[in-house]
Amino acid sequence: MKIGFPTYPRNNILDEIHWIGKNGFDFADLFFEADKAESHQIDPASVRNALDEYGLDAVGHTAWYLPIGSPSKPLRENAVEILKRYVVLCSQIRCYKLTVHAHWAFGLFTDDEVIGYQTESLHSLSEFAKDFGVKIIYESTDSPRDNIRNIRKILELNPEVDFHADIGHLNLHGKDPSACILEFKERLSHVHLHDNNGHTDLHLPMGVGMIRWEHLIKTLKSCYDGTITLEIFAPDRDYALLARKKLLEKWKTL
Ligand SMILES: [Zn+2]
Repeated sequence: MKIGFPTYPRNNILDEIHWIGKNGFDFADLFFEADKAESHQIDPASVRNALDEYGLDAVGHTAWYLPIGSPSKPLRENAVEILKRYVVLCSQIRCYKLTVHAHWAFGLFTDDEVIGYQTESLHSLSEFAKDFGVKIIYESTDSPRDNIRNIRKILELNPEVDFHADIGHLNLHGKDPSACILEFKERLSHVHLHDNNGHTDLHLPMGVGMIRWEHLIKTLKSCYDGTITLEIFAPDRDYALLARKKLLEKWKTL
């Protein structure tokens, strides 16, 4: 199991990698987003050098608001074109997993119609990504439409895409994150770890919200030994360092 931390996209990405490296994480989750980490703002060689300075691995992560499920064909095609730039960037950085988020259109369109739109985008993107050796991983978001049935359907329709389990998102709207992990364990490729109250996507350190952590970590350990990002949005990063200590302890002892 490897523990990572995200680069905050409103800071310089190299400064963020240095912080992650100096604090002893195993990898950086590179958040490619406005306003300081869009594709045209990043020099891949500098990012690779900064990662190498600390022996860090990396995974890539694109903005949650790219409309891959838009009912407007030009909008979703543009989203795919933007995402392709990150595929190329990832291959240049030598980072071989890239997160893309679910996107749900407004209420005029049924879940199955939007699953169709998302699938069209994911097919086109993953076909492109294959040539660059980059795996597209699908992160369900915080909406009620990111339910088990819809996630399952997306994964069935997109066998070339792996699952990114965001534990906080999987704790919303009555879902049980441990059950979700077991449901999708065959396709599980990356994890975001954070806590909440079951209603709002708060990105708290583990143990601060209502997730049953011991149960969750036991479940995760039973089927997964890959990358885990502490996606904690507390401005004081000591909380993230404490969360890492607690995760390591629990991972060893449970
Ligand atoms: Zn996440």
